[in-house]
Amino acid sequence: MSRQSPTPKWRELAIGMAITEPGSSRYNRTGDWRSNRPVWKFEACVRCGMCSIFCPEGCIGMQKDGLPLANMEYCKGCGICEAECWTGCIAMEEEKE
Ligand code: SF4
Ligand code: SF4
Repeated sequence: MSRQSPTPKWRELAIGMAITEPGSSRYNRTGDWRSNRPVWKFEACVRCGMCSIFCPEGCIGMQKDGLPLANMEYCKGCGICEAECWTGCIAMEEEKE
């Protein structure tokens, strides 16, 4: 039986109700639950990789040119990357439908 199933968007979740299990983000498109998203200003990025190291979803990869790239299918919009980026080049913005 496939573990993949249609994942509700965050606005469709019942209040206080999110059934998950360890490692389930690999099977659920958790990006659909996001209400905010990180936006990069790459001019200020020094390619240190701190945002990638601290992302709890492991969804920020470093590209060949050294710049980070987030997989928005799995980004939950927690804002940790913004908090950890010491150059201030990540800003959380409200997700648009
Ligand atoms: S907002 Fe959270 S989940 Fe999304 S890329 Fe940043 S640290 Fe990762
Ligand atoms: S933490 Fe900030 S400066 Fe460092 S790689 Fe990420 S975006 Fe660039």
